[in-house]
Amino acid sequence: SHWYPASRYLRQTAAGPDGAFSVAGLPSDTYYAATVNRIPDDGEEAWQKITEDNTIQVVFTDLGMPKLDGYEVCQRLKANEQTCDIPVIFLSALDELLDKVKAFRVGGVDYITKPFQLEEVLARIQTHLSLRAAQKEISQLNTELEQRVRQRTAQLEQEITERLQAQEQLLHLALHDVLTGLPNRTWFMKLLEQLLQQINQQVNQQPNHQFAVLFLDCDRFQSVNDSLGHLVGDQLLVSIARRIELCLRPSTTLCRLGGDEFSILLKDIDNASDAIKIANDILTELAPPFQIGAYQVFTNVSIGIVMGVSNTYKQPEHILRDADTAMYRAKANGKACYQIFNPTMHRSALHNFQLESDLRFALDRHELVAYYQPIVTLETNRISSFEALARWNQPEKGLIFPDKFIPIAEETGLVINIDLFILRQACQQLRNWQNEKIVDKSLTMSVNLSVKHFMSSNLLDQIDTILDDTGIDGSSLRLEITESDIMENAEFASNIIEQLRDRHIQLSIDDFGTGYSSLSYLYRLPIDQLKIDRSFVMRIDEYGNNIEIVEAIIALSKSLGMSTTAEGVETEEQLQQLKRLNCEYYQGFLFSKPIDAESARTLLISQ
Ligand code: C2E
Ligand code: CA
Ligand code: CA
Repeated sequence: SHWYPASRYLRQTAAGPDGAFSVAGLPSDTYYAATVNRIPDDGEEAWQKITEDNTIQVVFTDLGMPKLDGYEVCQRLKANEQTCDIPVIFLSALDELLDKVKAFRVGGVDYITKPFQLEEVLARIQTHLSLRAAQKEISQLNTELEQRVRQRTAQLEQEITERLQAQEQLLHLALHDVLTGLPNRTWFMKLLEQLLQQINQQVNQQPNHQFAVLFLDCDRFQSVNDSLGHLVGDQLLVSIARRIELCLRPSTTLCRLGGDEFSILLKDIDNASDAIKIANDILTELAPPFQIGAYQVFTNVSIGIVMGVSNTYKQPEHILRDADTAMYRAKANGKACYQIFNPTMHRSALHNFQLESDLRFALDRHELVAYYQPIVTLETNRISSFEALARWNQPEKGLIFPDKFIPIAEETGLVINIDLFILRQACQQLRNWQNEKIVDKSLTMSVNLSVKHFMSSNLLDQIDTILDDTGIDGSSLRLEITESDIMENAEFASNIIEQLRDRHIQLSIDDFGTGYSSLSYLYRLPIDQLKIDRSFVMRIDEYGNNIEIVEAIIALSKSLGMSTTAEGVETEEQLQQLKRLNCEYYQGFLFSKPIDAESARTLLISQ
């Protein structure tokens, strides 16, 4: 066959005496000696040899061979993973019909026709070997590249995960309050927005879809903060948050809106009673005192509730605004309670806003004026003192009573200016009467102090200045502070009371009986007088029914060495009962309403 001549020809022309031949430019000892010496006799054997010997770098094959022809050898080599990249060059005799297309199609890289010249064979071998070396290098570079890409990808993945984690942390920070760990206002607004969207989409299917928003504001938190410091304030906020959480179902969201404000979203509720129940639970849970370090602190919250029924609201801000309004109403109703929003409240909120700005002008324009209500000694029925009560003489509306503006002034801090204004006016008035000699030094002036003012750091300086300016002795002045305000800040209060005592200024506990009093504090504080709240006096009838509380307060006051004033005495019967109990002083419409300075002067002269 043609195969033999081809191999023999190769051997004769290309190989050296030992049967080996070398290719120019490549190290001679690596090539082909063995192969050339043992040129296989048929295709089958050739294929086997090549697969067993992994040093083979290039294959020449004749076309016609026994068992397997050249095309088939090539095909098998290409199909085998180990041998697929060995270049295969076909040899053919001139008279053979070489199917060149088929040779390339089965994977051949080249063909040479016999008889061939050694130089041509070697040149082609060299070309294909370099080509193969280049291919190998490329594939190695590719592998390296792939590896690098893989590494880089892994690195990138890591970086992305880290960045995502950082983003998540930032997001968490942006949506949470650091102090309590609760979601913050931003989160709450987003939550409401989503809810409104859902509801407005589903409105046709679920017309009665209800939710409630509770707006909670801590009562008197500011005074805790001012008197015990921010650290205690912070701890108190955390404790409040934890207690509120105890009252919530798992699906409920509690947020800290900021400062001492919290909000709660209740979804999918049947009616307002669900929200009311939670509000009541919270009020109960917060009622016992908080132990913050060495301090026992009493606080509670005022709660505004907004009921959202289907699509009554379009904007989350409006829900919060209304909840806030209802919360203020709860505060005005005596704190530690809840109020459900209704649209008339919104109008009164606007009204309050107007009132507040008017009130600022009122102070500047001296529209505030002190009225005086006599406090009478029961025994002699003579005036022993006056209580100065603020009135707002508004040019358009006439006389406005303090219950209309003091609560708002308390919220805004304006109450301090009002207190100071009334204090100065009352002291000046007393001084005028003293100068006129229509009163002697035993007549005292009682002035109300709001807790905000009582707790403020420059209270004593301000009082000193006013006493100096008006020339009033400390002993002619009596300050009235409500019971709960003193008791809730007892540690701080006792310090101030001591300093007032140094100036001989007297102190009354106002509205006694309406708040909580710790007897031990009451015993320790140098207080001169208890004023029995009007609500107890009011209930006394001509037969002396319902007098037990008044009796108990008078007994308590005596045992503590204090005097008692009964407020709001309106009838002769009440007066007789009080006399029977040895109450020292009384104040009420029975003797006189609060009156202006001129009327008070007349009254003084006439008695
Ligand atoms: P308060 O200190 O308990 O003052 C007594 C209130 O009871 C006064 O109301 C007085 O007019 C009223 N009253 C006195 N006798 C009778 C009576 O027989 N029957 C009835 N029905 N009422 C009687 P007013 O003047 O409206 O003051 C209300 C509250 O406003 C005061 O309660 C006090 O807490 C506050 N207030 C008034 N002036 C000032 C002030 O200058 N500063 C501060 N911080 N609060 C003030
Ligand atoms: Ca008073
Ligand atoms: Ca009172």
